[in-house]
Amino acid sequence: MPLILGIFRPSEIVIVIAAAAGIAAIARRRGGRAEIWGPVAGLGYFVLRYAVVKMNLFQGPSLQDETFNLGQHLPSMGWMLAVALAARFLIGRGRGAGESWFCPGCQTYNPSDASHCQACGQAFPKAE
Ligand SMILES: [Zn+2]
Repeated sequence: MPLILGIFRPSEIVIVIAAAAGIAAIARRRGGRAEIWGPVAGLGYFVLRYAVVKMNLFQGPSLQDETFNLGQHLPSMGWMLAVALAARFLIGRGRGAGESWFCPGCQTYNPSDASHCQACGQAFPKAE
């Protein structure tokens, strides 16, 4: 009777949470809602990964082995990559600043791919 979390390695959980936080940050500076994009990316990973293991897909070296089973990780890793790309290129599409900029509202320094201020959410001033 393994716990649900038993199929995930601690290091994997840490990495996924970090990646989800990164995706949330990308979404925020594209004008998306970080509190939605982060959990969608992270929970999607765990759900997919859990499903793959439970349905016995990509049978091979078990998770208890030291061998890294790439097939069992690909669907969930692909999911996170897809969400990351969507956050970067679909949200606020065509509204990137093109160069790094200072927010006129709060003076926060924002990277070139930010269409919205990372701190206060104000849209890039020249965005059309
Ligand atoms: Zn700002």
